Amino acid sequence: MTTSAPAEHCHRCDRPITPPAATAAGHATSEGVVRYTRCGCGNPQIWLTPVEFDAARLLHR
Ligand SMILES: [Zn+2]
Repeated sequence: MTTSAPAEHCHRCDRPITPPAATAAGHATSEGVVRYTRCGCGNPQIWLTPVEFDAARLLHR
């Protein structure tokens, strides 16, 4: 994908928000992996990486 989403900004200090690294610690939920980052001003951000299915699953044969 080459979509360039507009940068998110902290609603408290208006600094650009940096997404967490893919290797950052997180915890899995039914919807994906939830990660947390914290802005330089101390405002926390919560990120959800949706679950990805990397292999086709046979449903019927
Ligand atoms: Zn901030």
